[in-house]
Amino acid sequence: MAEQEGLRMDVRVDSSKCQGHGRCNTLCPEVFVLDEEGFATVDSSAVAQADPARIHSAAANCPENAITVS
Ligand code: SF4
Repeated sequence: MAEQEGLRMDVRVDSSKCQGHGRCNTLCPEVFVLDEEGFATVDSSAVAQADPARIHSAAANCPENAITVS
């Protein structure tokens, strides 16, 4: 069930909102990768294998609401 949800998830970080707090990386480092300046990017290839609950948790805990999950 969880894996099936992950396969359907589209995870994005709005780079215009991201302020580099890194909470997403703390909560789900396999999906939210920080660049050299600390801003988050999404490793799309990791989404399907990741725990959907942790992806949702990262999105919910982003102070800038920069993460969307659909
Ligand atoms: S938690 Fe939000 S603001 Fe912080 S690095 Fe992640 S996407 Fe950017």
